[in-house]
Amino acid sequence: MDEKLSFFKDGLRLDGRRPDELRPIKIEVGVLERADGSCYIEMGDNKVIAAVYGPREVHPRHLQEVTRAIVRYRYNMASFSVEERKRPGPDRRSYEVSKVSREALASVILTSYFPRSVVDIFVEVLQADAGTRTAGINAASVALADAGIPMKGLISSCAAGKVDGEIVLDPMKAEDNFGEADVPIAMTPGGEITLLQMDGRLSRDEFRRALELAKVGCQQIYEVQRRVLVDRYSSIAAPESCEA
Ligand code: UDP
Repeated sequence: MDEKLSFFKDGLRLDGRRPDELRPIKIEVGVLERADGSCYIEMGDNKVIAAVYGPREVHPRHLQEVTRAIVRYRYNMASFSVEERKRPGPDRRSYEVSKVSREALASVILTSYFPRSVVDIFVEVLQADAGTRTAGINAASVALADAGIPMKGLISSCAAGKVDGEIVLDPMKAEDNFGEADVPIAMTPGGEITLLQMDGRLSRDEFRRALELAKVGCQQIYEVQRRVLVDRYSSIAAPESCEA
């Protein structure tokens, strides 16, 4: 068998998707009672939950910034979220994912409105199937909005990759593991990139195509995020506006 064709059958991927197709997305908002904002997301077989607290007092206090709020982001993968049990606790990878995810979101948060305070974002991966950092950013962005944190806009995130020489959107685990490249991005609704990473090798032209494809994916995710928030808040607002 030609190994180069093993990730595609009749032009479709192993899970039946076209090369430019996202995995199915499900988003629920306000799933945690004790967080200020929260969101549960499924992107394919990824299951991720995000909780937002704040703006609140900073501890330890020496981290306070006098002119703005600080933003903290903790990405954590549950031991049971992956095939081979993950050792609990932070590691190099989770520090890296937390750092880039924090930066992807912090640039749209209006931190100057809340000097000396902190916005804490916790992301827990319950089930992983490649693309957990992007799923986490999508969930965190919705959870920030749910917490009422003022932002310039929502952040949407997904990856494009290269598998068997083809550029594909939103690689799943098998494609990520055996593929030639992975390019996760995060983006504002206006198209400003706030996260761009690359694993593997791509030619300049392939990189350009992967970036364009990931941008289209982000636009589609943005529509889902926006719709979920509008649905939630329009249904909450409706009875009050009737009484007024
Ligand atoms: N993964 C794993 N064990 C680990 C880290 C990752 O099995 O300790 C798997 C998991 O399914 C993850 C995928 O490898 O989603 C790809 O990991 P990567 O570091 O590329 O991050 P992600 O694509 O999840 O953002």
